[in-house]
Amino acid sequence: MSLRAVKGMKDILPDEISKWHRLETAFRQRVERYGFREVRFPIVEPTALFVRSIGETTDIVEKEMYTFTDRGEKSLTLRPEGTASAVRAYVQHSIQAKEPVTKWYYLGPMYRRERPAKGRYRQFYQAGIEVFGDPGPYVDAEVIDMVVGFISSLGITDVEVLVGSIGGPRTRERYRDALLTYLAPHRAELCSDCQRRMDANPLRVLDCKVPRCAEIAAEAPSMLQYLTDDDRAHFEGLQEALTLLGTPYRVEGSLVRGLDYYTRTLFEVLGKGEGLGAQNALLGGGRYDQMVESLGGPDTPAIGFAMGLERLLMAMPDEGAGSHVDVFIVAAQPEVRAQAALLGRELRDAGLRVESDLRGGSLKSQLRRADKMNARIAMILGESEVEQGVVQLKDLREQTQEQVPRPQAADRARALLQT
Ligand code: AMP
Repeated sequence: MSLRAVKGMKDILPDEISKWHRLETAFRQRVERYGFREVRFPIVEPTALFVRSIGETTDIVEKEMYTFTDRGEKSLTLRPEGTASAVRAYVQHSIQAKEPVTKWYYLGPMYRRERPAKGRYRQFYQAGIEVFGDPGPYVDAEVIDMVVGFISSLGITDVEVLVGSIGGPRTRERYRDALLTYLAPHRAELCSDCQRRMDANPLRVLDCKVPRCAEIAAEAPSMLQYLTDDDRAHFEGLQEALTLLGTPYRVEGSLVRGLDYYTRTLFEVLGKGEGLGAQNALLGGGRYDQMVESLGGPDTPAIGFAMGLERLLMAMPDEGAGSHVDVFIVAAQPEVRAQAALLGRELRDAGLRVESDLRGGSLKSQLRRADKMNARIAMILGESEVEQGVVQLKDLREQTQEQVPRPQAADRARALLQT
């Protein structure tokens, strides 16, 4: 039996990687402009971290975590998301004592044992940010504006920004009662999970994917009607700032996210273009003002979001056929192969991306490889070129050829590459 990658986990092969690099670089550049700094945390964490932050009755914790026992000692889990780890690191390193506001970003793989589908994987990549120490709402608007601008800079223009508020604990309590009153007569129609959730955590019913539950949830009262005055003022402040920034958005009263830790601001960006299919949530985020304290830190407001990189890649327009090679070196005779390696090193030291075929082979077959790799330039080196200290420089796009002194070969190649 041949071994294959684990179901729902994909290889990302070199042909796809330039698009990934483009996305990752654009993300880093964008968030660094806003003062975010990268943080890296482990891929495995104590299981209790996710149970306590994401919530015991969420789908992630109940059904999707990759949890294992570390050689009979401790229960560990592959991280299903980044915020819990960011908060753990923030608390563990007492970051609040070092700076009043902390802005972090991260990129990396996450693990959830979901049913694989287009745009939904068991190992997937997220890029996210977290801001600690600012209660908002202006920073909420700024991060939403930042990410909307980022998505549009990728050439993804057909998106919808949804914002909502789930309020603080007092709002939640009031809403919980209203929701239970609404759900009570439907109890028997709900799935068994939701019946259990009604007792443990009724808000989770709103997030159930079972069709009948989703229909019932769609008719539930809106959270926004139950906001306390403070929570409402916060939500209005967010909307005013978004309007001032010119960020288009739609208020969605029934926005719920699959994680329990959110308070007040919630947001999602949906991709509306073709190609995404049903999994069209490009990113989700919100405020989580209680998580730092609940994980043992000081009372610290915070907000963040995470984007699914695979989904962004699916929504991004394709780039033109690029190449990972600038110059392909052709050794005209087997005797000059060592010289070809030396020329390669000279050009690479000058910053060019260089390939060659040091196995030898005919001139024609080497030139064919240069074409196949989409190299712009072939540099042909034979015994007479070595003797004279020159190379034949062939522009494979323009189909022109010139002889260039070897010390000038790199500069000449670079000049051609600019055209
Ligand atoms: P969440 O952490 O659940 O708020 O999800 C944030 C974003 O991560 C979503 O909007 C998706 O873009 C992405 N995402 C979540 N789960 C998956 C998955 N199983 N496969 C691919 N992307 C995902």
